[in-house]
Amino acid sequence: MQAQEKPVQGLTHFQAEGSVIRRCKIVGTLGPASSDEATLRQLIRNGLDIARLNFSHGSHDQHRANVDLVRRLAREENRHVALLQDLQGPKIRTGKMLDGSITIASGEKYILAYGTEQTDAKVIPIDYRELVRDVAVGQRVMMDDGLLILGITAIEGDKVHVTVEEGGVLKSRKGVNFPDAKLSLPALTEKDSRDLLFGISIGVDFVALSFVQDPADILQVKKMVKALGSDVPVVAKIEKLPAIEEIDAIARVSDGLMVARGDLGVEGNVARVPGYQKLIVDTATRHAKPVIIATQMLDSMINNPRPTLAEVADVANGVLDGADCLMLSGEVAAGKYPVECVGQMSSIIEEVESWTLKRPVRYEGDVEPPTSRDGEASWEDHEAIALAAVEAADSLFAKAIVCLTLTGSIARCMARWRPKTPIIAISPRKDVIQRLTMVWGVFGMQNPLFYNTDVLLQDLPRILKEMGIVTSGDSIVITAGIPINQVRPTNMVKIEVIP
Ligand code: PGA
Ligand code: MN
Repeated sequence: MQAQEKPVQGLTHFQAEGSVIRRCKIVGTLGPASSDEATLRQLIRNGLDIARLNFSHGSHDQHRANVDLVRRLAREENRHVALLQDLQGPKIRTGKMLDGSITIASGEKYILAYGTEQTDAKVIPIDYRELVRDVAVGQRVMMDDGLLILGITAIEGDKVHVTVEEGGVLKSRKGVNFPDAKLSLPALTEKDSRDLLFGISIGVDFVALSFVQDPADILQVKKMVKALGSDVPVVAKIEKLPAIEEIDAIARVSDGLMVARGDLGVEGNVARVPGYQKLIVDTATRHAKPVIIATQMLDSMINNPRPTLAEVADVANGVLDGADCLMLSGEVAAGKYPVECVGQMSSIIEEVESWTLKRPVRYEGDVEPPTSRDGEASWEDHEAIALAAVEAADSLFAKAIVCLTLTGSIARCMARWRPKTPIIAISPRKDVIQRLTMVWGVFGMQNPLFYNTDVLLQDLPRILKEMGIVTSGDSIVITAGIPINQVRPTNMVKIEVIP
């Protein structure tokens, strides 16, 4: 009877395939190819954990309709599916091209000028007013994810003269990067502020900021979030080289990181992207913050029902690097096979985890205690409990680590160690459960009753047994802040054998 009730929403997935529970989560971007009910339902059934709303495209009404649909379908499918609002940030784009696109050939000369629509075949409109002021002769201009490269040869009045170095087809509204220039764009544009206000008003679970350059950019967004009466987590998209330089400081103030490989590959040297990926994942994990690897993971599946071997290897490598989430963009938003993409990604992750989770885990390495007590580096109490709980659970081959948590922080501290044992986080707060969808190996369960009484600790084994999560003889490890009704940080770890 219990398993049918609302409080256990999300755990159907946990129980579904016996011992196969995917630890690394899947983010999928909604778009024209994935906004209809039938497709979205299949995406959720195939394992979509987080729906990304890309605010570079679409109207508020479209996003609102998607949010309503995701919420309804998640409820109907008895799954937790969270919503990630991705703010466009200071992204520069070409304007609307005459006839939709132009072909530019190597060696040809063009003019770049501020504008939103092309009126002259030789002038490429760029939607950035300060263009002339911020760039210099000799710098490169990249368009459409770096596919097209132009070199600046002269600047005259409000015109930037360029010569095409690598040509191709240039379509309307394509991204433009100036990797050599320091642009004077604000981190949070006016559009971003409007979008953020909207996102918070419809209750998104996370906000991501694009083109973060330093910690101050994140702090600015957090200040605005707070002023709007919210505490929604803010994810920093790492896609500019200055952000790589300050990755540690950015990780400290953010609630998560995204390896935004698309723009990172354009702004920097593409050969360095795999190294940046490892650096960003390691930094996030060290700070116990979730990290998403994004862009082109199954790119060829935009047009084909099967991935290339290289893409399979890339997804597998993302899992091996230790990402909390892998993300699909155009593959799900605008491709021909969105449902197959999520299915493929899910099975590659499960396949890799079927052997990585068997490896002996050692709880050591370069994770340094982050706090200082009497001048000494030291874990905080709850961090010490998290480490003790994962070590105990793994060495006992426990069925689950169950943490009773108000804020979800203890679950993140446990996940940082990537234990073999799955983590069940029980919280009375729906928003906390939604936020934990981003964290590796954590499965949320909302139950408002759990915080009312210490009797819970006694009843938990029976409740989990009734739900079919454990059977007689299984061990579980439980953590809580006791006394529970006094709202304490986690201070207890308990080993329980199911009667
Ligand atoms: P985008 O960000 O898809 O919003 O550009 C991800 C990336 O740059 O990889
Ligand atoms: Mn980007």
